[in-house]
Amino acid sequence: MIFLKVPYAEKDEAKALGARWNPTRKCWYVPDGKDKEPFARWIAGGADAGADAAKAPSSRDAFGAKPVIGAKYVELPHACNPFEECAECRPKLIESGWLEAHQAVRKLLAGL
Ligand SMILES: [Zn+2]
Repeated sequence: MIFLKVPYAEKDEAKALGARWNPTRKCWYVPDGKDKEPFARWIAGGADAGADAAKAPSSRDAFGAKPVIGAKYVELPHACNPFEECAECRPKLIESGWLEAHQAVRKLLAGL
């Protein structure tokens, strides 16, 4: 069994290729006997591991000790005020889990 480091955004792609989800380890893996070649980009230390990291450091790179901006870093191409809610950016923040984490922090601070 080979465990994969699949970014959330690419989970459907990995699944379509035949990757399986291990609920105990909360990790995608290549079932035994299956060709691991199509999954090379998600295998830790794979050939492509550094390529994306240089372009856009994000949480996915933590596994390979690559630069990490923030665990919930989300790239927003929209030039809006980051301190006000934006209808265009909001769905992206929800989808990535950023908003949920943000609200959890606010809730925590409010209780102090
Ligand atoms: Zn926006």
